[in-house]
Amino acid sequence: MSTEKEYSFFQSVERSFDKASSYTKWETGILEQIKACNSVYSMKFPVKMDDGRIEVIEAYRVQHSQHKSPCKGGIRFSMAVNQDEVMALAALMTYKCAIVNVPFGGAKGGIKISPRTLSPYELEKITRRYTSELVKKNFIGPGIDVPAPDYGTGEREMAWIVDTYQSLKPGEIDAAGCVTGKPISLGGVRGRKEATGLGVFYGVREVCLIPEVMAKAGLTVGIENKNIVVQGLGNVGYYTAKFFREHGAKVIAIAEYEGAIYCKDGLNEEDVFQHRKATGSILNFPGATNIEKSSDALEMECDILIPAALENVIDGNNAPRIKAKIIGEAANGPLTPEADDIFAKKGVLVIPDMYLNAGGVTVSYFEWLKNLSHVRYGRLEKRFTENANMQILKQIEDLTGKQVTTAEKLIIAHGPDEIDLVHSGLEETMITATKEIMEIWKENPSIPDMRTAAYVCAINKVGTSYAELGIFP
Ligand code: GLU
Repeated sequence: MSTEKEYSFFQSVERSFDKASSYTKWETGILEQIKACNSVYSMKFPVKMDDGRIEVIEAYRVQHSQHKSPCKGGIRFSMAVNQDEVMALAALMTYKCAIVNVPFGGAKGGIKISPRTLSPYELEKITRRYTSELVKKNFIGPGIDVPAPDYGTGEREMAWIVDTYQSLKPGEIDAAGCVTGKPISLGGVRGRKEATGLGVFYGVREVCLIPEVMAKAGLTVGIENKNIVVQGLGNVGYYTAKFFREHGAKVIAIAEYEGAIYCKDGLNEEDVFQHRKATGSILNFPGATNIEKSSDALEMECDILIPAALENVIDGNNAPRIKAKIIGEAANGPLTPEADDIFAKKGVLVIPDMYLNAGGVTVSYFEWLKNLSHVRYGRLEKRFTENANMQILKQIEDLTGKQVTTAEKLIIAHGPDEIDLVHSGLEETMITATKEIMEIWKENPSIPDMRTAAYVCAINKVGTSYAELGIFP
């Protein structure tokens, strides 16, 4: 039986916040305002299902902070959705945006449904109705609150949202900016789909490039040849595994809810994905060993563990058995506060969610900027840059009397496409955020862990906003 004190997800977030606030200079009133959920919209609406039954759907949108506009955060479809969970996830969005310098308030939405058991038509009706409920209460709009994908949602749902919004707001010139994570054809940005996974990769890589951190973990600097275990082969887990593999790390195990698989030489996420699609299960993947109990994969010998599924998967019970030297929180809230304390004592580095998985919202910010500017990234400068590079190259060739090959010429002259700019903007964002958090930790070595340092970073930024906004009379 668990002896762990039960915290709700929102209470866990509050607990982490309180732990960090003692390392800041803000007065209690400001801290209370940063912590509070500003607006909670809980709704119920009827939907006629394919079999003719009417089902009453429970859904939420929570705006945790409005110190910057719009508010931002995904919408999840899951049977586990409840008000506490959405509040916690909205709060994490506030801190996440602050850490990566994305000028948004924090929000989150959730619909309590099981998307796997519903038909596309039922899902479309629910998503469209949810959107119109948000419009009615002024809870959505490019300058108000901008949803995005999250657990159980993706491009398709975002397309339904933007279409519903546009039909209810004819002529609104910036309407495409009411939601992010849209298909490219509807105003999406290239690079959004893989953004969270790529951000996780950049974030872990940056941390692994810090010699003191790696020495403490007993690991060599860099991510090459590191053994990785990934929990979750959804959008985030899939791309995280892909970028680690492409950069020389070995994904030795992948866990999903039906079980896990292990291969010491490394797994190819795309092959595993195709196998799961064809057979309905991750198990029995050729060349890999089955691990019947999925959660056992978390306890395997490895260098880096990436929980990329849901919250609270590592708690006071299994944390003592976890052997990873670094844990990268790709999911939101995968560790309970007890697990955090255990890892801090064991000296296991936990790279916290609200910094590590901020790649999604960072690229959402780029998408929103694209929607407001009504122009694709790279459109104005690509050709100009290429022409300028060609001229410089020609000068060098003339001066040296040497010629580069056509293939080399193409690489040197290349002007940025949208995808190049999005990836480099994301890389820059993650590098800057790592430096800012590590600087705070270095300046105050009594801060017990990286999560607390990340919270201090967020609290200071949000606190400054509130202090500069002034308090309304
Ligand atoms: N759902 C993602 C997250 O939790 C992305 C949010 C967004 O892009 O607004 O960070």
